[in-house]
Amino acid sequence: MEGLHTPDEWGSLEGKQVLVRVDFNCPVAEVNGRLEVTDDFRIRSTVPLFRALQAKGASVVAATHFGRPKGQVVEEYSVAPLQRRLDELCPGVELLENLRFSPGEESNDPSFGASLVKGVDYFVNEAFSASHRAHASIMIPPSLVPSAAGPTLRREVETLQRLLSAPERPFVAIVGGAKVKDKLGIVKVLVEKADTVIVGGGMAYTFAAAQGRSIGTSLFDPSRVEECAELLATGRVVIPSDALTLPSDSPFGAGGDLAPTPVEGDVPDGFQGLDIGARSAELFRDIIAGAGTILWNGPMGVFEDERLRAGTEAVARAVAASSAVSVVGGGDSVAALQLFGLQDEVSFVSTGGGASLEFLEFGDLPGLRALREGRGGAQ
Ligand code: AMP
Repeated sequence: MEGLHTPDEWGSLEGKQVLVRVDFNCPVAEVNGRLEVTDDFRIRSTVPLFRALQAKGASVVAATHFGRPKGQVVEEYSVAPLQRRLDELCPGVELLENLRFSPGEESNDPSFGASLVKGVDYFVNEAFSASHRAHASIMIPPSLVPSAAGPTLRREVETLQRLLSAPERPFVAIVGGAKVKDKLGIVKVLVEKADTVIVGGGMAYTFAAAQGRSIGTSLFDPSRVEECAELLATGRVVIPSDALTLPSDSPFGAGGDLAPTPVEGDVPDGFQGLDIGARSAELFRDIIAGAGTILWNGPMGVFEDERLRAGTEAVARAVAASSAVSVVGGGDSVAALQLFGLQDEVSFVSTGGGASLEFLEFGDLPGLRALREGRGGAQ
């Protein structure tokens, strides 16, 4: 990655202190009266870096955000459970208290950023998923001490870069999820880069409305209809032609047991579309099967609800079955892959949903810029 230094460039780190910005924002749950990490993937993937730094003689300090304590000390967001798990996986690494306990973190306060590197000789950013945010722990250390990009951050950036610069064709992108306004930017980039962009999930109904279809009470953003119409006019956007629906007042997600009604074409008044239908699932499967490169971000329906899961499962299985280079990003698509036990069947699982979309959209991230513009080399 051009302009990004690596910790390997530093010689001996004997007697040196290295601060590593990580993203240990792991799920936790109460076990025997105290919070414990329930999925330690984010911690485990950082261990090789910690070990490599320790092997060079460094004492390693890590820093993470954890939940949204909003600039205040909130006991439930203490990093204690993370530190306990870290101690088991890689002893000898000190984890600083939650960065977001200080209001200076999110406001990118230079003095808070400087306080993090007091006594620190080197900085490593190993938090790709936080690098789209111009927060103090991401932005300030690189301007003060020699800094480098960690290995998982680099791998993430390289994978996404390759996707944009030299994808195996056809390049099929699948975008889903609830909010069309959050994802239109990336759909606009993808219609330029990809051969086909499949749009599913709640966001597809604004596209359907732009085609003049009735959508009942499905998710709809009237302010985006025109942009959706322009994207459809490229001829490269494919949207579902059928849906699984429930009456508008029928509960879904948690609770609710009414069987969904499949509809072709328009969603009738008094109903809402909550998953793609069988015909669309088959079409999407065929398109995905022919792909040379696949990018998937966002579910096709309310997959948390067993009744509304089939569309997302069909896409997940098609992506997993493909021999194409496949990149899956976004918390929900990754959760769906895990739900179906398919996380090892894709080429790359991107840890940073928001960060990967921003990288694909803008080709860079504030945190990467800070590393490039900061002090890279040896002391
Ligand atoms: P996002 O955060 O925008 O990626 O959206 C993810 C959420 O979208 C998931 O929790 C899904 O349950 C939800 N979702 C997907 N399809 C629909 C739909 N047709 N209607 C309402 N919610 C949906």
